[in-house]
Amino acid sequence: MSSPLGRYEEMLHGSLPARYLLARSVKVELQEDLPLPERWKLHDRMMEHLREAIGRRDAPRIVRPNLLDLKVSIARDVIRECSLCEHRCGTDRYHSHGRCGVTESRISSQFVHMGEEESLVPSYTVFFSGCNLKCVFCQNYDISTCPDAGRSIPINEMARQLSRLASHIGAEPRFRAAGDIRNVNWVGGDPTPHLPYVLEVLSRSDANIAQVWNSNMYLTEHAMSLLDGCVDIYLTDLKFGNDACALRLSGAPSYMRTVTRNHLMASGQGEVIVRHLMLPGHLHCCTLPVVEWLAENMPGAAVNIMAQYRPAHHAWMFPELRDVVSLGEHRKVLEIARRKGLALI
Ligand code: SF4
Repeated sequence: MSSPLGRYEEMLHGSLPARYLLARSVKVELQEDLPLPERWKLHDRMMEHLREAIGRRDAPRIVRPNLLDLKVSIARDVIRECSLCEHRCGTDRYHSHGRCGVTESRISSQFVHMGEEESLVPSYTVFFSGCNLKCVFCQNYDISTCPDAGRSIPINEMARQLSRLASHIGAEPRFRAAGDIRNVNWVGGDPTPHLPYVLEVLSRSDANIAQVWNSNMYLTEHAMSLLDGCVDIYLTDLKFGNDACALRLSGAPSYMRTVTRNHLMASGQGEVIVRHLMLPGHLHCCTLPVVEWLAENMPGAAVNIMAQYRPAHHAWMFPELRDVVSLGEHRKVLEIARRKGLALI
């Protein structure tokens, strides 16, 4: 079987460009006064050109305005009645906030992370403040529940930081990422409310470095379409195996329909590493259905089934979440997943 991270590995060896650079090579006739529905139509047409370019090995020539500029202009408009995630608050984020509490993008911390999946480290990880989900067991609740925490980093400054991490397009050797850092990992909280910021940073960067979208995947289809062509690896959470647990523990209606759709979209857009954090007392309702769904629907994806759950945040209010996951139960799940053919990492 071919590697689930084949294109990314080729990028690391210096023979392929980051996807977002290809999006910046697709010329678009962009009129700022074009109504939003027309810009979406233009977007969908120009995505066809990008798909043709994905396998190209020559250096993409940056043109302006380009497909990524178009994505930025759409994203800026989408948050006027925000529907970036399936909560679909409809809030004008320039003047107020929705359920996630995010208005401007603030960054809680950014550093070289050594603790992610082996194929991703060292990873330059940007932690946004705020989150669109309200997980009672959130292990990062200090960040996710405080959208005003951290600092606002101007887009140009963040784009410059990216450029310092990697070789520029056109530099020699053309496609080799400089230094040891393998990717930029956008996370939180969750990066979804910050999608316009991320796209705009990328639209001003020429750093040839893989982009990782590290998310709960509770995005709308529109948000997924904006990410298409900009993300090299989706590092996803598949938290629950049914809607009732998602609603009770994360306040996320229509969870299964949303995240399974997005996982399938993600596998068509880039490479995917799926994470599942086992929750105590949720073996039969969540973990085993997740394993089953992955085996049936994403047999080639890399999967990380994790057992490091510790009670945090409001977990104490939910009797089953006061516990931890036993080593024996974790081993049993890994064995089942292997038998079902999942590519465990
Ligand atoms: S990102 Fe989601 S939760 Fe936040 S305002 Fe937009 S639709 Fe609402």
